[in-house]
Amino acid sequence: MRHSSLIAQHIRKWILVLPRRQALFFETASPQVVALLAMNTKPPNPKACKVCKTKFTPARPFQTWCSPECGLELVKAKQAKEGKAKAKAERQADKAKRERLKTRSDYMKEAQREFNRYIRARDADKPCICCGQPLRLGSGSSIGGEFDCGHYRSVGSAPHLRFHESNAHGQRKVCNRYGAGRAVDYRIGLVQRIGLDAVEALEADQTPRRYTIPDLIAIRDEYRAKTRALDLVETVGETWKQQT
Ligand SMILES: [Zn+2]
Ligand SMILES: [Zn+2]
Repeated sequence: MRHSSLIAQHIRKWILVLPRRQALFFETASPQVVALLAMNTKPPNPKACKVCKTKFTPARPFQTWCSPECGLELVKAKQAKEGKAKAKAERQADKAKRERLKTRSDYMKEAQREFNRYIRARDADKPCICCGQPLRLGSGSSIGGEFDCGHYRSVGSAPHLRFHESNAHGQRKVCNRYGAGRAVDYRIGLVQRIGLDAVEALEADQTPRRYTIPDLIAIRDEYRAKTRALDLVETVGETWKQQT
């Protein structure tokens, strides 16, 4: 077989996999031009299909799928990915909107919740501040935890002491909610725990505290972090106990 006819055969083979417009050009161009071009045309290398990993020879440079079926799989995967991204963006927008609609009172509630949670975590292993019984004794419901964060000077009458750590202690729900806080017993327990001077300082404290929204956010985040740190210490302690 002559050399030129070998080239022609080679070209015919590749015309089959070329895009239509390119193929038309080859079909209509003179044999000399075609032969010249063919010397510089490298056949595409086979590659693995992105979907089924089968080796195939791409018809176009950026084709990554071996068949229409695999092509469809790729389109579906792309759409699913876009759908997920859209849903995530919507969730974030909703969250941002809720954040914008929050009032100072919402931030106050969040900060108080985190402060109270911290006090309960801090006092979990101590007795009830007013009666000395175990905190978990007779706790039926776990709403707001098994026991309360009881304020010595109540949040209602002394709101400036609502985030004061000496003014708040773990207290059984039955004592905090149904015994009017058991103020006299609370004071006895408090003197034992923090000393008379600290109790009297607390009783004399009338310094007003004003909390802006950024203050409340900072308080919320600070107590959330403090509770986490306590939980971490507890977990590490448990692991250590198990090992020894
Ligand atoms: Zn495939
Ligand atoms: Zn009690």
